[in-house]
Amino acid sequence: MNLVFLGPPGAGKGTQARYVAERHRLVALSTGDMLRAAVAEGSEIGLQVRSIMESGGLVPDEIVASLISEALRRARADDAVDGVLLDGFPRNLEQAKMLEEILERQGETIDVVLELRLEDDALLRRIESRIAENPSERREDDTPEVLRNRIEVYHRETRPLGDYYRERGLLHEIDGSAPVESVTRAIEAVLSQAADIGGQRKAG
Ligand code: AMP
Repeated sequence: MNLVFLGPPGAGKGTQARYVAERHRLVALSTGDMLRAAVAEGSEIGLQVRSIMESGGLVPDEIVASLISEALRRARADDAVDGVLLDGFPRNLEQAKMLEEILERQGETIDVVLELRLEDDALLRRIESRIAENPSERREDDTPEVLRNRIEVYHRETRPLGDYYRERGLLHEIDGSAPVESVTRAIEAVLSQAADIGGQRKAG
């Protein structure tokens, strides 16, 4: 089972992704984490993307597509893994098309797309309280100004992916404003329904 997680910054994608991945033997692949690791290492890619990330913009499609392509290849080679959960990729239509090509080359498809939905005001409030509670875990791009830019980029570039995947019958919308456990339950309900349908398809 291959999942795509969509949702604005601060919606809790990372938390839910880790939980779902563990429960369903999936590898959670976060392009944000991969890029942050590249920046921390000071690699060539890290140097290229650092200032873009600090401003909350999107790094070039080719960079994230090649990181994801390599990570997908590694995940497929791992017998202990039943699929992947993509968190933070794709971020625009071009990346969605790149993802389809990459998966097709590897004989895979996307099974479910989950979109966590949350109003902009709620996102800003969440980030502000996260910063206040854990000042030491603050990320470079955890400032209200950068967050506003990231939300704007999300609306402009990433939200259209909702329609793209809805037209393909893959989209499931989840209310991200509910408490963490309720969001997890809503996600689990979608996944067990998807597993039933997948099972029926295989049986039929
Ligand atoms: P995230 O941890 O997913 O919020 O990503 C942090 C930052 O990494 C984003 O604000 C972007 O600058 C960059 N980034 C992560 N994933 C992508 C992507 N798929 N395409 C372009 N930029 C990305």
